[in-house]
This record gives sequence, C-alpha cells and structure tokens, in this order.
Amino acid sequence: MKKQSLIIYSVSLLLIIPFILSSCTVEEQKEEDAGPGYTIDHSLSRDQTHNKFSSQIEPVLTVDDGAVIEVYTEEAADEQISPGMTAAEFAALEDYDPGLVHPLTGPVFVRGAMPGDILQVKLHVVEIGEWGWTRIVNGIFLEEEFEPLLRTWELSKDMQSVQFSEGINVPLNPFAGVMGVAPDTEEMLSTIPPRANGGNMDDPNMTEGTVLYFPVFVEGALFSIGDMHAAQGAGEVCGTAIEVPGRVVYELKVIKDGHDMKEPQYETATTYAVTAVAPTLDEAARKANTYMIDYLEEGHGLSRSEAFMLTSLTGDLRIAEVVDQNMMVTMHIDKGIFARRN
Ligand SMILES: [Zn+2]
Repeated sequence: MKKQSLIIYSVSLLLIIPFILSSCTVEEQKEEDAGPGYTIDHSLSRDQTHNKFSSQIEPVLTVDDGAVIEVYTEEAADEQISPGMTAAEFAALEDYDPGLVHPLTGPVFVRGAMPGDILQVKLHVVEIGEWGWTRIVNGIFLEEEFEPLLRTWELSKDMQSVQFSEGINVPLNPFAGVMGVAPDTEEMLSTIPPRANGGNMDDPNMTEGTVLYFPVFVEGALFSIGDMHAAQGAGEVCGTAIEVPGRVVYELKVIKDGHDMKEPQYETATTYAVTAVAPTLDEAARKANTYMIDYLEEGHGLSRSEAFMLTSLTGDLRIAEVVDQNMMVTMHIDKGIFARRN
C-alpha cells in the first residue's frame, strides 16, 4: 500500500510540476510587462533648491494629486566640500557657510492638498550619486573633542558597500535625510532640527519602497527633499552620514479624512512606524509610544489599554537620530500581526 501511494504521489507531482513552472514564468513575464508601475510626470534639477522650512517659500513646481516626480538632490554642504578634500583643507576654508547646509529640491505644491489632510509620499527610486563625504562635527553628541576628520568616498549608484579601512566594509543603504512639508509659519526655520512637518529626520528606514505620511499644514503641502545619505547608523552620532548627491523618484497622493496624525509616519512592506521628535530621547520615546497607541486605537479598533499593551508586546522603539537639536525616536510594529484581519 505504502509503495503504491508513493507511486501515485510521484506521478501526480510530475504532472503538477510543469504547471507550477509555467505559472511562475507567467508571473515573471507579467512583472516585466508592467514595468516599474509608474510614469515620471515631472523632473526637478539639483539647482531647484531652497534651504529653510517656511510657508513663504515659493514652489518650484505645481502638480496634480497622484503625480510622479523625479528629483536630483545636492549633497548636504551644497558643494562647499569637494571630492578628495581633507580635514585640514576644510578647516582652512575661509568662506565656509554652515547656513548653506541642506539644499532641498522643491518645494512642490500639490493641487488639492489642504491643512488637515495627509500627504502620502511613495519612494519608488532612491539612488546615490558618484561621490560622498563624512565629517566629524565636534560637540553635538559626545563631549570628547575628536581630531578633525573628513573622508570623501568614490561611489556609484549600484555599489553595495564601501571599504572603510582594511578589513572593514560599510554596507550602503541610500535614503534621504531630509523630507518634509512646509510648516504653518512665515518664519524661515533652520533645516537642522526635525519637527512635526518632518525635515531632518535622518531615519535609515526611509529608503526605496518606503511610503511616508506627512500631516499637511499649508495649502499645497509644499513638499521638499534632499540631504541624501549613502550609509548611516541609527543615531548619526558623529553628525554626518555618507553625504551624497542623489536621485529620487517619488509619487504624491493627498489623503482626505485620514487618521489623526501629529507627526510623520511611514510603512514598509513589513512594518508600520510612527515618528516623534522632542528635545530629549525620553520625551520623544513617550510621544512615539502615544502616537502608536493613537494609530492602533483608530486604525485597528483597540481600546487605549489594549493598544498600550500591544505596543509593549510588539512595538519596537528605535532611535533615528540624536544630533539635530530635536531627537527623533520611532516606534515600529510588524504588520504581520494584522494578517488575520485581512
Ligand atoms: Zn545629511
């Protein structure tokens, strides 16, 4: 009997295999035919920049809801650092202007976006340019005074890692350090601290494929992006990442009557995350926990107590950065826990 069922099993498997194989090929073929799933509607160059956050900055582009935009971004020092520059050469720069930091490509005015809406930003492509730099900025995290150190790196968009030193390789993970909408103020705010409008969030999870959500504070949202990083650990402790020029393709969508959201949130294929900024890590962590409870209560029908308990069981608090005046902490939750609801 056993032998017989084994034969039947083997025969049926042989019959099924061609179907499995052919259906795989069909799936792959379908994906190829579909292309990347978007068409670029607009393109912005790395000269179309500003470097403050304010409702008063004129948009460089006005787009319809749903537009896909390709932007080229300048590196964080706006060409004041050049390939091969040493720490001594940097120190000798007489006209270095920290006020030029964070040239951001934009702002982009989105038709129909109004205060109270949510701006969804889907990152289709995040690519690094051909070089980058990293510098120690003394006194913003550790109190120790470090020897000045500036490194520049030769890069290319398909590189997977760079050699830091003999036997030490740093994996590359391109993402934009700064992404944000305009705040509701006429003041010209520095881009250094991240705020409720996003900005200098420096979160290495905000990479290709990630979908971000920003609360909209002014008509048109006025979205800007820049400060591309080729690699950065959570924290950005020495004050800089591998700072690079880059290219991003993103898709904008206005969400009306979305959930109540005070600061940016985002999701990846596997994770939903809330962000929170505050002058201290403790405060930012508590805010992140509260935002996740808000999200679970509103989006998943839990009581506040249940939501708090669930964040204790599955929520991961993470540091994004600790060097930009406001600390940013995120809480991540694995979307797999919601699988039974779908
Ligand atoms: Zn940066």
